[in-house]
Amino acid sequence: MTPNSEDAATRWLTDAGLRPTRQRVALAELLVGDGKHRHITAESLFESAKKKGAAVSLATVYNTLRAFCDAGVLQEIPLDGSKSYFDTNTHDHPHFFWEDEGRVSDAPAQELVIHKLPDAPEGMEIASVDVVIRLRKV
Ligand SMILES: [Zn+2]
Repeated sequence: MTPNSEDAATRWLTDAGLRPTRQRVALAELLVGDGKHRHITAESLFESAKKKGAAVSLATVYNTLRAFCDAGVLQEIPLDGSKSYFDTNTHDHPHFFWEDEGRVSDAPAQELVIHKLPDAPEGMEIASVDVVIRLRKV
């Protein structure tokens, strides 16, 4: 935990209108303290927090991640399964899901071309399209 990463985390929270509580700063620092985007699960963030000596419970991690999503600074990656995956990059982009490893990474967006989508049902519009490409070993 360096002063720089703590500053970055605090700024990230206050820019999103979130009160920078000690627990939030500790978790935000693990998410964005180095200025890089990352994909995490509540479980993986909880493990990282424990290693850093932060006193948080898994439930707190879950609730905090939900609060970050609600504030629009984190997005949940829609994958079914027992775990929720989150991304600090909130811009639309496709993902690879590495089924063997249970890992998510960004897929090259410039290589994705969607030619046609089904028309939205009457009275509806398409709000977003999520692309998750599932990978398995050949
Ligand atoms: Zn991503």
